[in-house]
Amino acid sequence: MQISEIFYSIQGEGRLIGTPSVFIRTSGCNLRCVWCDTPYTSWIPQGEKRSTEEIVNEVEKYPNRHVVLTGGEPLLAAEVEQLAMDLKRLGSHITVETAATIFKPVVCDLISMSPKLAHSTPRTREKGKFVKMHETGRLNLAAIQRFVNGYDYQFKFVVQQKEDFAEIEEILGGLKSVDVSKVLIMPQGKTTREIRLRVNWIIDLCKKYGFGYTPRLHIELFGNRRGT
Ligand code: SF4
Repeated sequence: MQISEIFYSIQGEGRLIGTPSVFIRTSGCNLRCVWCDTPYTSWIPQGEKRSTEEIVNEVEKYPNRHVVLTGGEPLLAAEVEQLAMDLKRLGSHITVETAATIFKPVVCDLISMSPKLAHSTPRTREKGKFVKMHETGRLNLAAIQRFVNGYDYQFKFVVQQKEDFAEIEEILGGLKSVDVSKVLIMPQGKTTREIRLRVNWIIDLCKKYGFGYTPRLHIELFGNRRGT
């Protein structure tokens, strides 16, 4: 599978924030978020082919009680299910971070879904050539529902503007049995400054809607750098 990077850091987002984790970042994505913070896995995908055995060997070099499969979109990789099973044999807690545009019965302890909202569509970038692909692919309620039904899960919605909360409510309204305590909001932003500009109104709206707020700790601690 195409791997962008494997590194050991702390989880910067969501309910396992602060947890030391080995991150396996696949390269390749079926979306093109205009603000993508890992363009080296989407807009200009980079990485090298590595077998699941090579990946597991690399992961074993680190303390690996927690492993995060991320991307890009990790569920696109044909070998992701095998990789997750191999990692499970190490005894690792596995988080899969996905935009949840496709469903795969991947073995994991936490499916961390980040469905993309309308503001993510790259309307003008590269003369809009990815608009159709992004718009038709970014929401798959049937796939999200399967994850909600069968997994321990969290939602991490990236929010850029106040109207995004109404859109999130609409998405959740199209799903059954979502536990609102598992819905987290995080600010769009690749710098601490951008994040801080949004944080106050986001927290006000989180309180109004009953959603949780998650910081983006890795950006605050390290900046938007690879390997963190
Ligand atoms: S889904 Fe994630 S990796 Fe893909 S373009 Fe959007 S932010 Fe980037």
